[in-house]
Amino acid sequence: MGLHERMQESPYDDLFDKKSAERPLGRFKLPENESDPAEIYQLVRDELMLDGNARQNLATFCQTWADPEVRHLMDDCIDKNMIDKDEYPQTAEVEARCVNIIADLWHAHESKNAVGTSTTGSSEAAMLGGMAMKWRWREARKKAGKDTDKPNMVCGPVQVCWHKFARYWDVELREIPMDRSRYIMNAEEVLKRCDENTIGVVVTLGITFTGQYEPVKEIAEALDRLQKEKGWDIPIHVDGASGGFLAPFCAPALEWDFRVPRVKSINASGHKFGLAPLGCGWVVWSEKKDIPEDLVFYVNYLGGNMPTFAINFSRPGGQIIAQYYNFIRFGRDGYRKIQDGCYNAGKFLVRGLEQFGFFEFLYTPDEKKGIPAVTWKLKDNANLPFTLFDLSDKLRERGWLVPAYTLPAHCDNIAVQRVLVKHGASTDLMELLLEDMKRAVSALESYPPSPRKDARGSFNHS
Ligand SMILES: *Cc1c(COP(=O)(O)O)cnc(C)c1O
Repeated sequence: MGLHERMQESPYDDLFDKKSAERPLGRFKLPENESDPAEIYQLVRDELMLDGNARQNLATFCQTWADPEVRHLMDDCIDKNMIDKDEYPQTAEVEARCVNIIADLWHAHESKNAVGTSTTGSSEAAMLGGMAMKWRWREARKKAGKDTDKPNMVCGPVQVCWHKFARYWDVELREIPMDRSRYIMNAEEVLKRCDENTIGVVVTLGITFTGQYEPVKEIAEALDRLQKEKGWDIPIHVDGASGGFLAPFCAPALEWDFRVPRVKSINASGHKFGLAPLGCGWVVWSEKKDIPEDLVFYVNYLGGNMPTFAINFSRPGGQIIAQYYNFIRFGRDGYRKIQDGCYNAGKFLVRGLEQFGFFEFLYTPDEKKGIPAVTWKLKDNANLPFTLFDLSDKLRERGWLVPAYTLPAHCDNIAVQRVLVKHGASTDLMELLLEDMKRAVSALESYPPSPRKDARGSFNHS
């Protein structure tokens, strides 16, 4: 009997002896007929084996650990559409509680009546924060009878969402390039780029490339001086994607939030250090008047008349509910302990990396001047037969994702490697990583990879 000829299916057949297992799953066309869900579930699930193991993904800033209770709540909410606030008023209530809790965490003044919303992540949140800035700037310019066709935004080395914002909404992005002595923005460089068409300055609390916090207060004070001199009242939006849920617990004395009056809006990713599962972000404005009324839409077709300021519409309510669960479950003390645990595991990793002797750190979490991350490069005189890209590739063999990449403009000849230390990255896990790094380094030294012709190879400790 040939491979594809069989007598009859039996309900007792092994899962992999069923008809559906005889050929590859559809890749281009919808199949004509239905199949047994258990069989297809297994085959689809097997495809997922080829994905990386999320817990070993040390590149992402996002959560890769979820408590069983979070999984239950996500399942409980799978059929609830959070936008439908009439049908699911309690989910809407929980979202409002989260906004209140976050506004309080970021020192919004109660009297000022902070407002905010959940989003799918910091990218959507950044769009909303950016749009509010552009709209406010345009209103003020119109009122003053001035032209409104050349808005610009000033920032340091930002995450790609701000490049998107600038392009999608026609705003000139004045990004301060990195410098070998300074991987973040400073007040002097900000002031050089501001003018009457600046809709706002975006300061990042935990920059993507190294993990450092940019100096919000210093920038705000410089903008105060600028306003006195020139009359331009330029607001600050803080991109606290990571730092927004770290600094309040681990660096409480750092003034980066609504304690600084020039900070008008802040975004953060719930699914990063907010500890919520993927698909959760937040944006909060210090006062209701900071959201231009014509950005808010009123929707009556779900019952009731609901205001909405968002780019997306339908999405599941589970992320919001899980965020609330975490807030109540952990409280301030729990968040502080978890995040401190990440800083400590990060410090442990630094001590281990120092032993190699040829790494130079751009950022370590030792002083908590940024997020729990470690960023390093090869020392200029390292003289090794491999690059960080080779090391990154070698670590992949053991499932670790420790990215190597080049820094942005003006420092793009510097290749770095970075580890994000998140909830669930125990000291033991960091020790396992260090052991694998030692093995990888000795393998690369014994069998040096052939020099690459591509762009990455040219960064061989030049
Ligand atoms: C991750 C990140 C973003 C994008 O956030 P998402 O939640 O992934 O959309 C924006 N800015 C910074 C600084 C980030 O770290």
